[in-house]
Amino acid sequence: MIVAVASGKGGTGKTTVAAALARLWPGRRLAVDLDVEAPNLHLFLAPEILGRGEENLVVPVVEHPERCTGCGACSDICAFKAVLAFGDFPVVFPEMCHACGGCFVVCRETVFGRGQRHLGEVRWGRAPVAAGDCAFLMGESRVGEAMSPPLIRAVIRRMRDSLADGGDAVIDAPPGTTCAAMAAVRPADAAVLVTEPTPFGLHDLDLAWRSFSEFGLPMGVVVNRAGGGGADGDAAVEDWCAANGVPILARLPFETAVARAYARGVPADAASPALRAALVDLTARVRALAAEGKHARV
Ligand code: SF4
Ligand code: SF4
Repeated sequence: MIVAVASGKGGTGKTTVAAALARLWPGRRLAVDLDVEAPNLHLFLAPEILGRGEENLVVPVVEHPERCTGCGACSDICAFKAVLAFGDFPVVFPEMCHACGGCFVVCRETVFGRGQRHLGEVRWGRAPVAAGDCAFLMGESRVGEAMSPPLIRAVIRRMRDSLADGGDAVIDAPPGTTCAAMAAVRPADAAVLVTEPTPFGLHDLDLAWRSFSEFGLPMGVVVNRAGGGGADGDAAVEDWCAANGVPILARLPFETAVARAYARGVPADAASPALRAALVDLTARVRALAAEGKHARV
């Protein structure tokens, strides 16, 4: 089973929930941080990093400028304006390239060679947990890299390789409804949407639910800092979930002790016995949701 923990906006407690699920999930599991622009799951799981690898994107480089006839086919096919032909002088903007390969195909003069753009790094290891076995996998974008989906897809490929031997995965997805968030939720059997009971939280929860509905996977909501938005805030989330048929998997109350522990990188389930009980219950509910999603996909 693969579960993605997502949120319509940042700061809702998504990583707190992902870390708790990874720690409390029974049996063999893999914690995967796909929030590659700002990964922080490792701060809560404290994994031992056992390996790392660089990920690159194949982009065109002008290797034989003397062969260019100025036909303009490369400019025409590139939807991202990453290659332009100024007369018989092609110019590539590698940072804008999506590696579709179109310019390689249409350039009959084989002007382009294969260059590489560094995307970032993938790291893997093991996270210490009380029970079972928790492997760890994360990606981290190169500073300045504008596109995160290619690196996310590279991490997902490694995730699938790892799961080929069995086990489940808990993904910490990027916040929001960007291409990166969509790429991270796409492989999941179920999505956990973490929200806060505020107008912003509810607005972005609705956006996330609508966006991820495209994948046809079961979703459930975790209301974090329940009560923190006042009675109206909680009621608004409850009403929205009832109206859209989305189950509330947990209501996690705000606790100052947990907020202090978070600032020190202490996982929520280790900071509060009451919260731990709620998170154990949440884990069981998420497993049931993911089993439903996996069954539906088979
Ligand atoms: S497709 Fe090739 S030959 Fe045509 S303009 Fe581009 S680089 Fe030059
Ligand atoms: S590989 Fe695709 S995106 Fe990149 S420059 Fe060529 S046509 Fe544009």
